[in-house]
Amino acid sequence: MTDTAVVGAPTDTAKRPARSRPAAKPHGQWKVDGTTPLNANETWKQEDNGLNVRERIESVYAKEGFDSIDGTDLHGRFRWWGLYTQRKPGIDGGKTATLEPHELEDKYFMLRVRIDGGALTTEQLRIIGQISVDFARGSADLTDRQNIQLHWIRVEDVPEIWRRLESVGLSTTEACGDVPRVILGSPVAGIAKDEIIDPTPLIHELSERFIGDPELANLPRKYKTAITGHPSQDVVHEINDFALVGVVHPELGAGYDLWVGGGLSTNPRLAERLGVFVSADVAAEVWLGVTSIFRDYGYRRMRTKARLKFLLNDWGPAKFRQILEDEYLGFKLPDGPAAPKPSAPGDHIGVHEQKDGKFFIGVTPTVGRMSGESLVKLADTLEQHGTYRLRTTPHQKLVILDVTKEQVEPLIAELDTLGLSARPSVFRRGTIACTGIEFCKLAIVETKVTAATAIAELERRLADLVETKQLPQALSLHINGCPNSCARIQTADIGLKGMMLPTPDGDPTPGFQVHLGGGLANNEREEAGLGRTVRGLKVTVDDLPDYVERVVRKFVAVGAEGQTFAE
Ligand code: SF4
Repeated sequence: MTDTAVVGAPTDTAKRPARSRPAAKPHGQWKVDGTTPLNANETWKQEDNGLNVRERIESVYAKEGFDSIDGTDLHGRFRWWGLYTQRKPGIDGGKTATLEPHELEDKYFMLRVRIDGGALTTEQLRIIGQISVDFARGSADLTDRQNIQLHWIRVEDVPEIWRRLESVGLSTTEACGDVPRVILGSPVAGIAKDEIIDPTPLIHELSERFIGDPELANLPRKYKTAITGHPSQDVVHEINDFALVGVVHPELGAGYDLWVGGGLSTNPRLAERLGVFVSADVAAEVWLGVTSIFRDYGYRRMRTKARLKFLLNDWGPAKFRQILEDEYLGFKLPDGPAAPKPSAPGDHIGVHEQKDGKFFIGVTPTVGRMSGESLVKLADTLEQHGTYRLRTTPHQKLVILDVTKEQVEPLIAELDTLGLSARPSVFRRGTIACTGIEFCKLAIVETKVTAATAIAELERRLADLVETKQLPQALSLHINGCPNSCARIQTADIGLKGMMLPTPDGDPTPGFQVHLGGGLANNEREEAGLGRTVRGLKVTVDDLPDYVERVVRKFVAVGAEGQTFAE
C-alpha cells in the first residue's frame, strides 16, 4: 500500500478486518500440489498405467471381443497403444455435440502406427500395407505427424497386427495418449547435402530409451517432439511441445536451438526459444529434462490447461530455462544462436540430390490418403527401381530415398500411376486434411473428400493462372473437421475449421470458419504467425471451391504489389 492510499482512504477502512482472498485452486502440479488426483482422468491414470492394458488386450479382449472391454480401458488406456474407437458411419455432424459418446462410437478402432522420424524401409511399408489389406478394409492415411493410420480394426486382430509390426521393428506404443507421441524427424535426415546436423542417432536414442517407459507414461496430456537438422526446418517445430532445430554455434559448431511450449487446438500458441545451444551429446538429457518438467510441473486439474504451452505461458522462457538447468540437468546450457530463415520448402517435393550423389524424390498423395494395396505396390515399385528406404513427412507426403540418376524419371512415371506426384499442382501440394467425419467421433464435417474435390476443381478452374505462371509458389489450404486443429488450421494461408452453419431455411449445413494468413517459418516468410479469422467469415462445403478461387484470384491480383496472405 502506498502513502497516498493511506492518506486518501476513509478512516474506517483501516479498522475493517482485512478480507482474505479465496485460496487459488491448485493446478494439480505434482511437484507443487502433490500427486493426489484432482479429476477422474488423473485418477484412472494413476490407478493403472495405460501401458498395462496391452496384457488385457492380448489375454482377454482379443479373445472375448469388443463387448468384453472395460469402459476405462476402452476410452482411456487403449490410446496408449494407438487405438481409438472410430465413429459409427452415417451420423451427421450436427449430432456430434448432442449425442452421448457411446452413441457416436463404432465397435471398430482406428490404429496409429508410430513411425519415429518417419523412417521406413520397403519391407516395413509392405507389412503395413498388407495389415491394411487383411485387417483394415484397405484403409491407410498418412497423417501430418508422420504416422500411418488404419481404420476398421477389430480388437480380435490387434495381437496379430502387433506381431507383424514388431517383426519388422514397428510399433503402436504410445502412438496416442498422455505420453511422448511420435517423434517428428526431418524426412531427409542423414541424406541431405546441406544438412547441418543429422538427428537420426538422437531420434533412435529417444525412441529406444524413453518410448514405453512407465516413468514417462503418465504425463498431464500429450507431448509432441520434433527434431530437425535440415536448414528447411521441415518438422513444424513451432507447434510442438519440445523441438530442436539445427544451428551452427560460432564456437561450438553444429548443434540445436531449443524451442518449447508450442501447440494449436483451441488455444493456439507458438513455441518459444529458450535461447540455449544444445549439443548432440546432451540433447537426449535435455529432452528428458523438459519432458520431466512437463510431468512434474504440468497442470493436471483441467485437461483444457494441461499442455506444456500453459506452463510456459505462466513461467516465461527465462524461468523455464532456469528450472531445466538447476533442477533437471544440473549444469548450465550455453547461450545459442537462432537458426536463420529456412532455406527451402520443408515438404521436399520434387527431385533433390543427396550427399552421396543419389537422389531423393518428394511425392504427394492427395491429402495423405493411400490404401493398403497402394502401399504394397509402392514397396514393390521402389524395390524394382533399386531403392529400399522412404520417409513420411509432417505434410502428409512421402520422400523416396536413394534413387540413382538413371532411375529418377522412370520411377517418377511409375509413382504417378500410384497417384503419387513429384510435380504436383500448388493446390495438391499445399492441401492437407484431417480425418474428419468419416472416422472421427469429434468431427462435425467431412474433410478428405471435400479437400480432394476442392483440389481437382481448383486445378481445373485456375488453369489460366498456371499457364501464365501467376500462381504463388506455395499456397497452403488446411481443412479440419472440428475446432481441434489436427490439420493445423491456424498455420495455413487458408485454414478451414469445420462447423455447422445456419441456413435461411433453418436447416444447418456443414461448412467452415475461415482463418487467413497463418504460416510457419518457411522460405517464403520470415517467421511463424497464426492465421486470423476474417470478420466471422464462413463458407459452406459446397461453396468451398468458389471461395478459394476468389481468394486466390484476389491474392494474385494484389500480389504483384507485394501483398501476402498474412496481410
Ligand atoms: Fe477429428 Fe477434429 Fe482432429 Fe479432425 S480436427 S481429426 S475432426 S478431432
